[in-house]
Amino acid sequence: MRTLTTLLALCAAPAALAHGINGHVHVTGWAIEALPPGELADFFAEPEVRDAALIGAAFPDSGYAIGDPYGELAHWEPYVGAHLAWIQGHLGPPFETLEARKHVAFLMGLASHGLQDELFDSLFLYQVELHDHEGQDRADPGTDSFLFADGWLQYKPPLYAPFDDLPGIFLEAHGHVVDQDTIRAGMNRVKLLVIDGFAAIAPGLEAQHRPFLAWTAEHYVDPAVPGSLASEIPPTAAYLQAIWDRLHDRYPMAAIATHGWPVAPRRLRALGPEIVDAWATIVFGAGVVVGSLNADTVVLLDPDGQPVPTRVRHTRWSGGADDSTRLVRIIPEVALAPSTTYTVELRPGIQRTTGEVLADTLVFTFESTCVEAPCAPEPMGGEPPRPPVPPDAGPPDAAVVDAAVVDAARPDAARRTRPSRTPPGRTWRAWRRRTPRRWPPTPRRPTRRWWRRQRRRWLHAGAGRRGGRAGAAAGPRPAPPPDQTVSVRS
Ligand SMILES: [Zn+2]
Repeated sequence: MRTLTTLLALCAAPAALAHGINGHVHVTGWAIEALPPGELADFFAEPEVRDAALIGAAFPDSGYAIGDPYGELAHWEPYVGAHLAWIQGHLGPPFETLEARKHVAFLMGLASHGLQDELFDSLFLYQVELHDHEGQDRADPGTDSFLFADGWLQYKPPLYAPFDDLPGIFLEAHGHVVDQDTIRAGMNRVKLLVIDGFAAIAPGLEAQHRPFLAWTAEHYVDPAVPGSLASEIPPTAAYLQAIWDRLHDRYPMAAIATHGWPVAPRRLRALGPEIVDAWATIVFGAGVVVGSLNADTVVLLDPDGQPVPTRVRHTRWSGGADDSTRLVRIIPEVALAPSTTYTVELRPGIQRTTGEVLADTLVFTFESTCVEAPCAPEPMGGEPPRPPVPPDAGPPDAAVVDAAVVDAARPDAARRTRPSRTPPGRTWRAWRRRTPRRWPPTPRRPTRRWWRRQRRRWLHAGAGRRGGRAGAAAGPRPAPPPDQTVSVRS
């Protein structure tokens, strides 16, 4: 029941619970591997430090697993900023002890998770809705199960979190009271069920979601698609660097825009208007005030320097002007001209959540879709590294499998899933032979023959109306096999 509750909690889709937890762990791991040589790459060279970042990337969703708001809070930049300030006040830099370095890496991991959710929900989810007509309920668990089935998974970080410090940081950051036992329980559930036990859950989730996510299954690791897991790697790496620089107080406003989509020589995938393939996106290395990103401060210009009508949108879930966002979407309201270089200008007035205001104009250029040959070839590859041999799945845990099957108990999914537990002491095939073809049997009007047999039984078996020795020896009626129950119910 506990595993079922956990699954339900993790498979539900609260506000910021976007792509699956293994997706977060892996995009963060791939981003660390993609870091250029330098101070930060050296920092992550220590395996324990890297593992702390990977498990940190699972941390925000652990709040959902235990039903505590700390998880939602940890998704957003205001928390990241407060946690970062706490580290500066208590641990450095320089981060000389291993414990301090692990704590810093943990923060980077949890921050990466929040950014990845913003990217996935604000970009990829629109594609899922467009092509597969499905939403977060399927895309989140579905993509995680695809990662398993398609052989991408390789990281299983050990359990770690700065449990002693986190309650104080949540209290300081948001006045939120949570004790470390709650956080530990949430992390245990995520670690046990979604990371270590995922091999047992994934096939059930895949069977449940893949039939509905044909386009998603094709493109969720496609580096050419905005918001895909592969496309999240460069902005995650840039964000890790930004947080490192923020920890060292060397992150000026002029460096606020860390990444833009599409990155040359890639081009926009469509001319638009409106559809997601025609959007340009700028990603920030710190929280920016939603209200400061508007038609005056974010402008799209054509090659003649003329403004193109656009709508300026932020992270998908931003509600008010005071909210924070780590990205801005520039949505053209007219079709763009093909093979044309456009410019996005970020103008003075853009404000960080910490109060600093952009004084310069930042410029990002990109090229629109090429529709007529000759088109310069777009880059091939860009996928993350696949492990040479996927880690051994190990024997499935029957309890976890059952929980996954029950959780996936929509009739359409359950029908495709073979029951995982045969009655004690019997093989499945023997059970099938001994079980009525239809279960429960369709009620029928008793025939004369039936009444005669019943009467004989009652008279000669020597017991009351229902039992008889024969009935008693047979024992209680076995529970019906689960698949037949479902098919009848539906
Ligand atoms: Zn999340």
